[in-house]
Amino acid sequence: MQIDMITCANPLAQYMEYKKRIDAAVSGVLASGRYILGDEVKAFEQELAVYLDVPYAIGCGSGTDALVLALRALDIGTGDEVIVPSHTAVPTVAAIAIVGAIPRFVDIEPGFFTIDPACIEVACSANTKAIIAVHLYGQSAAIGDIADIARRHNLYLIEDCAQAIGATYQGKKLGTIGDIGCFSFFPTKNLGAIGDGGAIVCKDQLLATRINRLRQYGWNNDRISEEPGINSRLDELQAAVLRVKLEFLDNANKQRKHLADIYSQSLGQLPLSIPIERAEAEHVYHLYVVQTGYRDTLIEFLKEHSVNAGIHYATPIHKMPAFKREVALPATEKAAAMVLSLPLYPGMEMESQKYIIKLIHTFFENKLLE
Ligand SMILES: *Cc1c(COP(=O)(O)O)cnc(C)c1O
Repeated sequence: MQIDMITCANPLAQYMEYKKRIDAAVSGVLASGRYILGDEVKAFEQELAVYLDVPYAIGCGSGTDALVLALRALDIGTGDEVIVPSHTAVPTVAAIAIVGAIPRFVDIEPGFFTIDPACIEVACSANTKAIIAVHLYGQSAAIGDIADIARRHNLYLIEDCAQAIGATYQGKKLGTIGDIGCFSFFPTKNLGAIGDGGAIVCKDQLLATRINRLRQYGWNNDRISEEPGINSRLDELQAAVLRVKLEFLDNANKQRKHLADIYSQSLGQLPLSIPIERAEAEHVYHLYVVQTGYRDTLIEFLKEHSVNAGIHYATPIHKMPAFKREVALPATEKAAAMVLSLPLYPGMEMESQKYIIKLIHTFFENKLLE
């Protein structure tokens, strides 16, 4: 019997679920003759702002661009330092480099994989301008403590919410706690477009005006460039698809949480660490990440049985040639060696999940026999 590969994420499953609505949205845009920054983008920005309960939401070209625009709107550039975890996706750090600023890598809290507040103050210098807190895997960083530190040291706080749309901290949606929240709509994210897309949210009107300008050549309403900007616009096709999917986001996140609970109940007795949930925070399980010292043999075993698990992330950013730094980050290095992301996505079949759970049990039973 030929078994299809079970992948870590599956954006096609979500398209199939809402195919009629998405096809209609796409046709509508094609027939409208307006393809960039039109009514769909405006409506999506409003709906996203309502969903997150934040005054301003601005669409842009990608999650990376959202971070770049956030940094530029806060006047962070050459020579400024930005505190950031090394255990994150490359774009978090790429954005800092794009504006000419310097990433200051700090360690993570081992159980949560998010920036360790205790390490932030130590990393502060006279040149530090901002902290980027990454809500990794779908769960909030210790954002209350981090916001306190930012306030005390007069630093801007940017939330990288690329993996955590819909997640909350003390009932507040992530992205609305710091100065600016940045989102990605890359197809595999919890709210995924059919190409690249991103958004920036904030509470300050002047900041929103500036971000709006910066995303389109620095133009004011008369198409006069007030300052040098970039081209990072959300297009109408993406916005139309995102509007459909935003309606179902809470439901999709619930499905993710349900699948995560089943994994945790079924794998908890095995010699691997299952995710822990932060008190006061709601996890939206962009990724279901376990830790095991047998990571590399387990991932091979799963692959031999048609299951593609993932590693997020195998190489800490401070070890990559582009961003190399001599800095001791023990929790980060340990996580990089042990993390494994199991397949989890809305629309995943119960049978697939059962099959994966059974495989992992078999793997550890075989280990005991060795
Ligand atoms: C996906 C992602 C981004 C950037 O998103 P793009 O849309 O791919 O530019 C930034 N930060 C994190 C943590 C991400 O996972």
